[in-house]
Amino acid sequence: MTTVNYEIVIIGGGPVGMALALILRDSGISTLLLEARGLPEKVDDPRPLALSHGSRLILQRLGVWQKLSQKTPITTIHISNRGGLGRTVLTPEDAGVSALGYVVNYHDLFRALYETLQDTDTDYLTGATVKQFDTDADFGHVQFDHHGEENEVGAKLLILADGGRLSAQIEDITYQTHDYEQWAVVANIKAQTLQSGIAYERFTSDGPVALLPSGENFALVWTVSPTAAKEIIALDDETFLARLHQHFGDRLGKFIGAGKRSGFPLALKYATPTTSQRIALIGNAAQTLHPVAGQGFNLGLRDAHELANEVLMTFKAGKEIGTPAMLARYRQQRQIDSKAGRIFTDSLIKLFSNDNPLLKHACGFGLSALDCFPPIKRFVARRMIFGARG
Ligand SMILES: Cc1cc2nc3c(=O)[nH]c(=O)nc-3n(C[C@H](O)[C@H](O)[C@H](O)COP(=O)(O)OP(=O)(O)OC[C@H]3O[C@@H](n4cnc5c(N)ncnc54)[C@H](O)[C@@H]3O)c2cc1C
Repeated sequence: MTTVNYEIVIIGGGPVGMALALILRDSGISTLLLEARGLPEKVDDPRPLALSHGSRLILQRLGVWQKLSQKTPITTIHISNRGGLGRTVLTPEDAGVSALGYVVNYHDLFRALYETLQDTDTDYLTGATVKQFDTDADFGHVQFDHHGEENEVGAKLLILADGGRLSAQIEDITYQTHDYEQWAVVANIKAQTLQSGIAYERFTSDGPVALLPSGENFALVWTVSPTAAKEIIALDDETFLARLHQHFGDRLGKFIGAGKRSGFPLALKYATPTTSQRIALIGNAAQTLHPVAGQGFNLGLRDAHELANEVLMTFKAGKEIGTPAMLARYRQQRQIDSKAGRIFTDSLIKLFSNDNPLLKHACGFGLSALDCFPPIKRFVARRMIFGARG
Protein backbone atom coordinates (compact mmCIF):
# COMPACT_ATOMS: atom_id res chain seq x y z
CA MET A 1 0.00 0.00 0.00
CA THR A 2 1.52 3.37 -0.99
CA THR A 3 0.98 6.37 1.27
CA VAL A 4 -0.04 9.66 -0.33
CA ASN A 5 0.90 12.78 1.61
CA TYR A 6 -1.10 15.97 2.04
CA GLU A 7 -0.72 19.13 4.09
CA ILE A 8 -4.18 18.56 5.58
CA VAL A 9 -6.61 15.64 5.88
CA ILE A 10 -10.12 16.51 7.07
CA ILE A 11 -11.90 13.51 8.59
CA GLY A 12 -15.67 13.94 8.32
CA GLY A 13 -17.43 15.76 5.52
CA GLY A 14 -20.52 16.94 7.39
CA PRO A 15 -21.45 20.62 6.96
CA VAL A 16 -18.51 21.85 9.07
CA GLY A 17 -15.83 19.67 7.42
CA MET A 18 -17.10 20.61 3.96
CA ALA A 19 -17.14 24.31 4.81
CA LEU A 20 -13.52 24.11 5.97
CA ALA A 21 -12.47 22.34 2.75
CA LEU A 22 -14.16 25.15 0.80
CA ILE A 23 -12.44 27.90 2.77
CA LEU A 24 -9.08 26.27 1.97
CA ARG A 25 -9.73 25.78 -1.76
CA ASP A 26 -7.47 27.70 -4.11
CA SER A 27 -4.99 28.30 -1.27
CA GLY A 28 -2.29 26.04 -2.69
CA ILE A 29 -2.54 23.90 0.48
CA SER A 30 -3.03 20.25 -0.50
CA THR A 31 -6.17 19.02 1.26
CA LEU A 32 -8.05 15.71 1.33
CA LEU A 33 -11.63 15.49 2.67
CA LEU A 34 -12.90 12.05 3.72
CA GLU A 35 -16.62 11.46 4.29
CA ALA A 36 -18.09 8.12 5.33
CA ARG A 37 -21.57 8.75 3.96
CA GLY A 38 -22.37 8.69 0.29
CA LEU A 39 -23.89 11.27 -2.02
CA PRO A 40 -26.37 13.94 -0.78
CA GLU A 41 -29.29 11.74 -1.89
CA LYS A 42 -28.26 9.35 0.88
CA VAL A 43 -28.13 11.99 3.59
CA ASP A 44 -31.77 12.09 4.59
CA ASP A 45 -31.44 14.34 7.65
CA PRO A 46 -34.60 16.39 8.26
CA ARG A 47 -33.32 18.67 11.05
CA PRO A 48 -33.84 22.40 10.53
CA LEU A 49 -30.82 24.63 11.11
CA ALA A 50 -31.26 28.23 12.17
CA LEU A 51 -28.28 30.01 10.67
CA SER A 52 -27.03 33.26 12.12
CA HIS A 53 -26.34 36.36 10.07
CA GLY A 54 -22.61 35.68 10.61
CA SER A 55 -22.97 32.16 9.12
CA ARG A 56 -24.83 33.60 6.15
CA LEU A 57 -21.90 35.92 5.44
CA ILE A 58 -19.42 33.00 5.51
CA LEU A 59 -21.62 30.77 3.32
CA GLN A 60 -22.18 33.64 0.88
CA ARG A 61 -18.43 34.12 0.48
CA LEU A 62 -18.06 30.39 -0.20
CA GLY A 63 -20.77 30.47 -2.92
CA VAL A 64 -22.94 28.04 -0.93
CA TRP A 65 -25.67 30.43 0.17
CA GLN A 66 -26.73 31.04 -3.43
CA LYS A 67 -27.22 27.28 -3.95
CA LEU A 68 -29.59 26.71 -1.02
CA SER A 69 -33.06 25.95 -2.34
CA GLN A 70 -34.85 27.40 0.71
CA LYS A 71 -33.68 29.86 3.35
CA THR A 72 -36.43 31.47 5.38
CA PRO A 73 -35.56 34.74 7.14
CA ILE A 74 -36.36 35.04 10.83
CA THR A 75 -37.71 38.54 11.39
CA THR A 76 -38.78 38.09 15.01
CA ILE A 77 -37.96 35.66 17.82
CA HIS A 78 -40.75 35.22 20.31
CA ILE A 79 -39.58 33.63 23.57
CA SER A 80 -42.07 32.57 26.25
CA ASN A 81 -42.29 30.40 29.32
CA ARG A 82 -45.24 28.00 29.64
CA GLY A 83 -46.97 28.13 33.02
CA GLY A 84 -45.04 31.23 34.05
CA LEU A 85 -45.35 34.92 33.34
CA GLY A 86 -43.02 36.76 31.07
CA ARG A 87 -42.04 36.77 27.47
CA THR A 88 -39.68 38.68 25.24
CA VAL A 89 -39.56 39.54 21.58
CA LEU A 90 -36.29 40.01 19.70
CA THR A 91 -36.26 41.90 16.40
CA PRO A 92 -33.50 42.68 13.88
CA GLU A 93 -33.41 46.28 15.18
CA ASP A 94 -32.37 44.92 18.61
CA ALA A 95 -29.27 43.45 16.99
CA GLY A 96 -28.61 45.99 14.25
CA VAL A 97 -28.96 43.43 11.42
CA SER A 98 -31.46 42.90 8.57
CA ALA A 99 -32.70 39.49 9.80
CA LEU A 100 -32.15 37.62 13.06
CA GLY A 101 -31.26 34.46 11.19
CA TYR A 102 -32.37 32.09 8.44
CA VAL A 103 -33.86 28.62 8.64
CA VAL A 104 -32.41 26.05 6.25
CA ASN A 105 -32.53 22.28 6.22
CA TYR A 106 -29.51 20.06 7.05
CA HIS A 107 -30.03 17.95 3.93
CA ASP A 108 -30.24 21.01 1.67
CA LEU A 109 -27.14 22.56 3.23
CA PHE A 110 -25.26 19.26 2.80
CA ARG A 111 -26.28 19.18 -0.90
CA ALA A 112 -25.32 22.83 -1.52
CA LEU A 113 -21.90 22.33 0.10
CA TYR A 114 -21.39 19.08 -1.82
CA GLU A 115 -22.22 20.72 -5.15
CA THR A 116 -19.94 23.67 -4.46
CA LEU A 117 -17.09 21.27 -3.64
CA GLN A 118 -17.54 19.54 -7.01
CA ASP A 119 -16.38 22.75 -8.72
CA THR A 120 -13.09 22.86 -6.80
CA ASP A 121 -9.90 20.88 -7.16
CA THR A 122 -10.07 19.70 -3.51
CA ASP A 123 -9.53 15.93 -3.21
CA TYR A 124 -12.89 14.81 -1.79
CA LEU A 125 -13.92 11.19 -1.27
CA THR A 126 -17.40 10.11 -0.21
CA GLY A 127 -18.04 6.55 0.99
CA ALA A 128 -14.60 6.81 2.66
CA THR A 129 -14.67 5.61 6.29
CA VAL A 130 -11.66 6.31 8.46
CA LYS A 131 -10.85 3.22 10.50
CA GLN A 132 -7.76 4.33 12.35
CA PHE A 133 -5.34 7.21 12.72
CA ASP A 134 -2.24 8.05 14.71
CA THR A 135 0.29 10.85 14.85
CA ASP A 136 3.93 11.49 15.64
CA ALA A 137 5.73 14.80 16.15
CA ASP A 138 5.94 15.47 12.38
CA PHE A 139 2.98 13.76 10.76
CA GLY A 140 -0.49 12.23 11.05
CA HIS A 141 -1.33 8.89 9.46
CA VAL A 142 -4.83 7.82 8.45
CA GLN A 143 -6.20 4.47 7.32
CA PHE A 144 -9.54 4.43 5.59
CA ASP A 145 -11.82 2.15 3.67
CA HIS A 146 -13.04 3.42 0.32
CA HIS A 147 -15.65 1.13 -1.27
CA GLY A 148 -14.02 -1.98 0.19
CA GLU A 149 -10.46 -0.92 -0.61
CA GLU A 150 -7.97 -0.09 2.15
CA ASN A 151 -6.03 3.16 1.77
CA GLU A 152 -3.46 5.10 3.74
CA VAL A 153 -2.65 8.82 3.71
CA GLY A 154 -0.41 11.10 5.71
CA ALA A 155 -0.67 14.81 6.53
CA LYS A 156 0.95 17.60 8.50
CA LEU A 157 -2.40 18.21 10.19
CA LEU A 158 -5.42 15.95 10.77
CA ILE A 159 -8.66 17.85 11.30
CA LEU A 160 -11.40 15.88 12.99
CA ALA A 161 -14.84 17.04 11.86
CA ASP A 162 -16.43 13.66 12.47
CA GLY A 163 -19.07 14.77 14.98
CA GLY A 164 -17.01 13.29 17.84
CA ARG A 165 -17.09 9.64 16.86
CA LEU A 166 -13.37 8.92 16.30
CA SER A 167 -12.02 11.86 18.27
CA ALA A 168 -13.30 10.29 21.49
CA GLN A 169 -10.42 7.78 21.10
CA ILE A 170 -7.60 10.34 21.32
CA GLU A 171 -5.73 9.64 24.54
CA ASP A 172 -4.93 13.16 25.71
CA ILE A 173 -8.35 14.58 24.87
CA THR A 174 -11.09 14.21 27.47
CA TYR A 175 -14.78 14.58 26.71
CA GLN A 176 -17.09 16.10 29.32
CA THR A 177 -20.57 14.75 28.72
CA HIS A 178 -23.96 15.57 30.17
CA ASP A 179 -26.92 13.55 28.91
CA TYR A 180 -29.99 15.82 29.01
CA GLU A 181 -32.19 12.71 28.98
CA GLN A 182 -34.17 14.50 26.32
CA TRP A 183 -34.78 13.89 22.65
CA ALA A 184 -35.67 16.43 19.99
CA VAL A 185 -38.60 15.41 17.83
CA VAL A 186 -38.29 17.13 14.47
CA ALA A 187 -40.98 17.53 11.80
CA ASN A 188 -42.36 19.93 9.22
CA ILE A 189 -45.66 21.42 10.44
CA LYS A 190 -48.49 23.18 8.67
CA ALA A 191 -50.55 25.53 10.85
CA GLN A 192 -53.84 27.33 10.21
CA THR A 193 -51.80 30.54 10.36
CA LEU A 194 -49.11 30.81 7.66
CA GLN A 195 -45.66 31.59 9.00
CA SER A 196 -44.74 35.28 8.94
CA GLY A 197 -41.07 35.19 9.83
CA ILE A 198 -41.63 34.65 13.55
CA ALA A 199 -39.61 31.94 15.33
CA TYR A 200 -41.35 30.74 18.50
CA GLU A 201 -39.26 29.37 21.35
CA ARG A 202 -41.43 28.21 24.22
CA PHE A 203 -39.88 26.85 27.40
CA THR A 204 -41.76 24.13 29.26
CA SER A 205 -40.77 21.96 32.22
CA ASP A 206 -40.22 19.03 29.77
CA GLY A 207 -37.85 21.15 27.68
CA PRO A 208 -38.17 23.81 24.99
CA VAL A 209 -40.42 23.55 21.97
CA ALA A 210 -39.49 25.63 18.92
CA LEU A 211 -41.50 26.38 15.80
CA LEU A 212 -39.25 27.98 13.23
CA PRO A 213 -40.49 29.61 10.01
CA SER A 214 -39.73 27.31 7.08
CA GLY A 215 -41.09 28.25 3.66
CA GLU A 216 -44.84 28.72 4.19
CA ASN A 217 -44.82 26.34 7.13
CA PHE A 218 -42.92 25.68 10.35
CA ALA A 219 -40.06 23.43 11.35
CA LEU A 220 -40.74 21.87 14.72
CA VAL A 221 -38.04 21.02 17.27
CA TRP A 222 -39.92 19.56 20.26
CA THR A 223 -37.87 18.49 23.25
CA VAL A 224 -39.30 15.67 25.36
CA SER A 225 -38.13 12.66 27.39
CA PRO A 226 -36.76 9.72 25.35
CA THR A 227 -39.87 7.64 26.19
CA ALA A 228 -42.27 10.41 25.19
CA ALA A 229 -40.29 10.99 21.97
CA LYS A 230 -40.70 7.38 20.86
CA GLU A 231 -44.39 7.56 21.70
CA ILE A 232 -44.87 10.88 19.84
CA ILE A 233 -43.05 9.61 16.76
CA ALA A 234 -45.34 6.56 16.64
CA LEU A 235 -48.64 8.57 16.88
CA ASP A 236 -50.92 8.94 13.88
CA ASP A 237 -50.84 12.47 12.37
CA GLU A 238 -54.16 13.62 13.81
CA THR A 239 -53.34 12.63 17.39
CA PHE A 240 -49.82 14.04 17.04
CA LEU A 241 -51.08 17.44 15.82
CA ALA A 242 -53.70 17.63 18.59
CA ARG A 243 -51.02 16.83 21.18
CA LEU A 244 -48.70 19.48 19.77
CA HIS A 245 -51.53 22.03 19.87
CA GLN A 246 -52.23 21.18 23.49
CA HIS A 247 -48.53 21.54 24.35
CA PHE A 248 -47.74 24.68 22.33
CA GLY A 249 -50.98 26.58 22.86
CA ASP A 250 -53.26 28.47 20.51
CA ARG A 251 -50.92 31.16 19.20
CA LEU A 252 -50.91 29.72 15.66
CA GLY A 253 -54.43 28.26 15.63
CA LYS A 254 -54.75 24.57 14.88
CA PHE A 255 -51.97 22.50 13.38
CA ILE A 256 -53.28 20.90 10.21
CA GLY A 257 -50.45 18.94 8.61
CA ALA A 258 -47.25 17.13 9.61
CA GLY A 259 -44.30 15.73 7.67
CA LYS A 260 -42.18 12.74 8.67
CA ARG A 261 -41.11 12.77 12.33
CA SER A 262 -37.53 12.01 13.44
CA GLY A 263 -35.92 11.90 16.88
CA PHE A 264 -32.43 13.04 18.01
CA PRO A 265 -30.99 12.20 21.47
CA LEU A 266 -29.59 15.35 23.12
CA ALA A 267 -26.42 15.73 25.15
CA LEU A 268 -23.83 18.36 25.94
CA LYS A 269 -20.42 17.02 25.00
CA TYR A 270 -17.20 18.96 24.70
CA ALA A 271 -13.53 18.15 24.29
CA THR A 272 -10.71 19.42 26.49
CA PRO A 273 -8.39 20.40 24.92
CA THR A 274 -9.57 20.72 21.32
CA THR A 275 -6.15 19.90 19.88
CA SER A 276 -3.58 17.15 20.22
CA GLN A 277 -0.30 16.30 18.47
CA ARG A 278 -0.92 17.18 14.77
CA ILE A 279 -4.69 17.13 15.41
CA ALA A 280 -7.39 19.83 15.64
CA LEU A 281 -11.08 19.28 16.39
CA ILE A 282 -13.86 21.37 14.85
CA GLY A 283 -17.67 21.41 14.84
CA ASN A 284 -19.52 18.77 16.81
CA ALA A 285 -16.23 16.92 17.36
CA ALA A 286 -15.13 19.90 19.49
CA GLN A 287 -18.53 20.61 21.09
CA THR A 288 -22.01 19.19 20.73
CA LEU A 289 -24.71 21.41 22.23
CA HIS A 290 -28.42 21.27 22.95
CA PRO A 291 -30.23 22.70 19.88
CA VAL A 292 -32.02 25.36 21.97
CA ALA A 293 -31.11 28.77 20.50
CA GLY A 294 -29.62 27.10 17.38
CA GLN A 295 -25.94 27.53 18.21
CA GLY A 296 -24.21 24.24 17.21
CA PHE A 297 -23.57 24.59 13.50
CA ASN A 298 -22.99 28.34 13.77
CA LEU A 299 -20.29 27.69 16.36
CA GLY A 300 -18.82 24.86 14.26
CA LEU A 301 -18.64 27.11 11.22
CA ARG A 302 -16.73 29.68 13.27
CA ASP A 303 -14.33 26.88 14.37
CA ALA A 304 -13.71 26.10 10.68
CA HIS A 305 -13.28 29.78 9.84
CA GLU A 306 -10.78 30.47 12.65
CA LEU A 307 -8.79 27.27 12.02
CA ALA A 308 -8.58 28.07 8.31
CA ASN A 309 -7.31 31.58 9.19
CA GLU A 310 -4.53 30.09 11.32
CA VAL A 311 -3.60 27.58 8.60
CA LEU A 312 -3.58 30.23 5.86
CA MET A 313 -1.54 32.72 7.88
CA THR A 314 0.98 29.99 8.78
CA PHE A 315 1.25 28.86 5.16
CA LYS A 316 1.61 32.39 3.79
CA ALA A 317 4.37 33.10 6.32
CA GLY A 318 6.25 30.08 4.88
CA LYS A 319 5.97 28.23 8.21
CA GLU A 320 4.98 24.64 8.89
CA ILE A 321 1.28 23.78 9.34
CA GLY A 322 0.13 21.80 12.39
CA THR A 323 2.92 22.67 14.82
CA PRO A 324 2.16 22.96 18.56
CA ALA A 325 2.45 26.77 18.29
CA MET A 326 -0.12 26.96 15.49
CA LEU A 327 -2.51 24.64 17.31
CA ALA A 328 -2.15 26.64 20.54
CA ARG A 329 -3.20 29.79 18.67
CA TYR A 330 -6.28 28.03 17.27
CA ARG A 331 -7.20 26.74 20.74
CA GLN A 332 -6.89 30.17 22.23
CA GLN A 333 -8.91 31.80 19.44
CA ARG A 334 -11.83 29.46 20.00
CA GLN A 335 -11.84 29.23 23.78
CA ILE A 336 -14.16 32.13 24.65
CA ASP A 337 -16.69 31.61 21.86
CA SER A 338 -16.97 27.87 22.49
CA LYS A 339 -17.31 28.28 26.25
CA ALA A 340 -19.88 31.08 25.87
CA GLY A 341 -21.99 28.95 23.48
CA ARG A 342 -21.87 26.02 25.87
CA ILE A 343 -22.74 28.01 28.97
CA PHE A 344 -25.47 29.95 27.17
CA THR A 345 -27.34 26.88 25.88
CA ASP A 346 -26.76 24.76 28.97
CA SER A 347 -27.97 27.53 31.30
CA LEU A 348 -31.11 28.07 29.22
CA ILE A 349 -32.01 24.39 29.61
CA LYS A 350 -31.18 24.24 33.32
CA LEU A 351 -33.03 27.46 34.13
CA PHE A 352 -36.15 26.97 32.08
CA SER A 353 -36.67 23.17 32.04
CA ASN A 354 -37.67 22.78 35.66
CA ASP A 355 -40.75 22.59 37.84
CA ASN A 356 -39.50 24.86 40.60
CA PRO A 357 -42.18 27.63 40.89
CA LEU A 358 -39.70 30.17 42.30
CA LEU A 359 -37.26 29.64 39.46
CA LYS A 360 -40.15 29.78 36.98
CA HIS A 361 -41.16 33.21 38.27
CA ALA A 362 -37.56 34.38 38.23
CA CYS A 363 -37.21 33.25 34.60
CA GLY A 364 -40.47 34.93 33.65
CA PHE A 365 -39.22 38.11 35.31
CA GLY A 366 -35.92 37.78 33.44
CA LEU A 367 -37.69 37.50 30.08
CA SER A 368 -39.87 40.55 30.82
CA ALA A 369 -36.84 42.48 32.07
CA LEU A 370 -35.11 41.89 28.74
CA ASP A 371 -37.93 43.77 27.06
CA CYS A 372 -37.39 46.73 29.39
CA PHE A 373 -33.60 47.03 28.95
CA PRO A 374 -32.70 47.48 25.27
CA PRO A 375 -28.88 47.33 25.84
CA ILE A 376 -29.18 43.89 27.50
CA LYS A 377 -31.53 42.76 24.77
CA ARG A 378 -29.07 43.93 22.14
CA PHE A 379 -26.31 42.01 23.94
CA VAL A 380 -28.39 38.77 23.96
CA ALA A 381 -29.49 39.19 20.33
CA ARG A 382 -25.95 39.86 19.07
CA ARG A 383 -24.55 36.96 21.06
CA MET A 384 -27.10 34.65 19.44
CA ILE A 385 -26.14 35.98 16.02
CA PHE A 386 -22.39 36.45 16.11
CA GLY A 387 -21.23 34.33 19.08
CA ALA A 388 -18.93 35.70 21.78
CA ARG A 389 -17.66 38.44 19.46
CA GLY A 390 -21.20 39.79 19.11
C1 LIG B 1 -32.55 18.54 16.30
C2 LIG B 1 -31.36 19.41 16.07
C3 LIG B 1 -31.53 20.73 15.68
C4 LIG B 1 -30.41 21.55 15.48
N1 LIG B 1 -30.63 22.84 15.15
C5 LIG B 1 -29.57 23.67 14.97
C6 LIG B 1 -29.76 25.03 14.61
O1 LIG B 1 -30.90 25.51 14.50
N2 LIG B 1 -28.68 25.80 14.39
C7 LIG B 1 -27.41 25.33 14.54
O2 LIG B 1 -26.44 26.09 14.35
N3 LIG B 1 -27.18 24.04 14.89
C8 LIG B 1 -28.22 23.20 15.11
N4 LIG B 1 -28.01 21.89 15.43
C9 LIG B 1 -26.63 21.40 15.56
C10 LIG B 1 -26.03 21.01 14.20
O3 LIG B 1 -26.83 20.04 13.58
C11 LIG B 1 -24.63 20.47 14.37
O4 LIG B 1 -23.88 21.36 15.15
C12 LIG B 1 -23.94 20.29 13.02
O5 LIG B 1 -24.62 19.31 12.27
C13 LIG B 1 -22.49 19.84 13.24
O6 LIG B 1 -21.90 19.59 11.99
P1 LIG B 1 -20.58 18.73 11.90
O7 LIG B 1 -20.19 18.75 10.45
O8 LIG B 1 -19.59 19.16 12.92
O9 LIG B 1 -21.00 17.27 12.38
P2 LIG B 1 -21.99 16.23 11.71
O10 LIG B 1 -23.15 16.92 11.12
O11 LIG B 1 -22.24 15.19 12.77
O12 LIG B 1 -21.12 15.56 10.56
C14 LIG B 1 -20.04 14.68 10.86
C15 LIG B 1 -19.69 13.94 9.57
O13 LIG B 1 -18.57 13.08 9.82
C16 LIG B 1 -18.78 11.86 9.13
N5 LIG B 1 -18.01 10.81 9.80
C17 LIG B 1 -18.20 10.30 11.04
N6 LIG B 1 -17.31 9.32 11.30
C18 LIG B 1 -16.53 9.23 10.18
C19 LIG B 1 -15.43 8.38 9.82
N7 LIG B 1 -14.96 7.45 10.65
N8 LIG B 1 -14.85 8.54 8.59
C20 LIG B 1 -15.31 9.49 7.72
N9 LIG B 1 -16.36 10.32 8.02
C21 LIG B 1 -16.95 10.18 9.23
C22 LIG B 1 -20.30 11.63 9.25
O14 LIG B 1 -20.74 10.77 8.24
C23 LIG B 1 -20.84 13.05 9.10
O15 LIG B 1 -21.15 13.39 7.77
C24 LIG B 1 -29.11 21.04 15.66
C25 LIG B 1 -28.92 19.71 16.04
C26 LIG B 1 -30.04 18.90 16.25
C27 LIG B 1 -29.82 17.47 16.67
